[in-house]
Amino acid sequence: MCLYPCLMVSDVCNLRCGYCYYRHQVVQNEKMNDQVLEIVIHRIMEASRDMAFFCWHGGEPLIVGLDFYQKVVALQNQLRASGQQIINSIQTNGTLIDKEWAKFFYLHDFQVGLSLDGPGEYHDLYRVDRNGRGTFARVMQGVEYLRREKIEPGILAVLHAGNVSNPERIFRFFVDNGFRYFDFKPCYERDPAGNVEPFSITPEVYAEFMTTLFDLWLAENNPEITILNLEDAVAAIMGKQPSSCQYRAICQHMVTMSPDGYLEVCECFPKEALREPLQKKTVKEIIDSEAYRDYLYEIERAMEICKGCKWLYACGGGCPKYSLLSGGDWHRNLFCQARQRVFRHIKDHIDSIAGRI
Ligand code: SF4
Ligand code: SF4
Ligand code: SF4
Repeated sequence: MCLYPCLMVSDVCNLRCGYCYYRHQVVQNEKMNDQVLEIVIHRIMEASRDMAFFCWHGGEPLIVGLDFYQKVVALQNQLRASGQQIINSIQTNGTLIDKEWAKFFYLHDFQVGLSLDGPGEYHDLYRVDRNGRGTFARVMQGVEYLRREKIEPGILAVLHAGNVSNPERIFRFFVDNGFRYFDFKPCYERDPAGNVEPFSITPEVYAEFMTTLFDLWLAENNPEITILNLEDAVAAIMGKQPSSCQYRAICQHMVTMSPDGYLEVCECFPKEALREPLQKKTVKEIIDSEAYRDYLYEIERAMEICKGCKWLYACGGGCPKYSLLSGGDWHRNLFCQARQRVFRHIKDHIDSIAGRI
C-alpha cells in the first residue's frame, strides 16, 4: 500500500496564527524523541519498499532544530533497502529558515512547502507571532535564503475572510514575486461551541475566487506557473490522475505519525478513528486491524452521499472535514456546490477549446 505519512515532530509552534487549526487545543510541548524517531522511520521504510515518503510537519517542524533532521537523514540512509527511493518534504511557516536550513534542504533534496497568504496586508492579518506581530517580512526573508540555494518553495495560501475577495491582487503578488507553485486552502473553522469562526469563508466566495483565479491563470499563459488546485481539477476532468488527496478519495493512505509514536488518521479527518502505537505494531498490522476496517467503513459512509453525482469521477467527494455535521452524521460536503461550479467553469473552457479544433 502506498503511504503518505505526515510526521508531526512537535505540537509546538513559534507563531500564533488567528485561524490555527490547533488554536483551541492545549499544547503538550511534545517533541518527537530519538527513540520514537527511529521507530517511526523504521516503520515507514519497511512499509514502503519502493518509495518511502516523509512529510515533516508540526506545530512548526523547524522548531526541533537542524540536529533532528541530520539524524533523520542518517537513519534513512542506514535503513534504506537496495533500490528504495526516499522523498522528504517539509511544511513550514518559513519564519525560522536561515542560511544553514536552506543549505541543508538543498544538500538533502528536501521539498519545501511554505505558508504565505499573499501580500503583507493579507498575510499579516492572521499569520502573527506570539506578540501579535505580522510575519510577512520574516517569511520573505526565509524565501530569500531558499532561493540563494536555488530552492523554489511551494506556497500554501489560506483563503480567509480577509483575502478571498481579491484574487487579482493575490495572483499578481505571487507571480510578480517569482513564485511558481501554489495551492489554496479554504479556511472554514468552528469554535468549540460549534459557531462558524469569523475568519471563515463561504463556499460561494470560494467558488468565485477559484473561477476568477482560473481565468487569470489562463490569461497569464505561463506554463511554469502551477496552481495545484486548478491543475488537479483540470487533470481530474480530463480523466488523469490528480495529485491532491482532495480529488482522489485516498484518505486511507494519508496517515499521521504523532510526536509520541502513534499512527493516526489524517488530522483533517473529522472523527477520531484510529490511534495505534508504532512501538508495538507494524504499519501492516495496523492496516489489517479491525480499527482500520472501521475507519475504511467511515470513509465509505462519508462518500455514500456522492453516489450518482455526475462530477464524482472528477471531484472524488472532496475533504471529509467539510462533510460532518456537529451531530456526528455525514452530510453533503459543504463545498459541494462550489466544487461543481468550479468544475463546470473549467469544463466549459475545455469544451470551448475542443469545439475550435
Ligand atoms: S504556523 Fe501553523 S501551527 Fe503555527 S500557529 Fe500558524 S497555523 Fe498554527
Ligand atoms: S460535486 Fe458534491 S456530490 Fe458530487 S462528488 Fe463532489 S462533493 Fe460529492
Ligand atoms: S481528510 Fe481531507 S486532508 Fe485528510 S486525507 Fe482526507 S481529503 Fe486529504
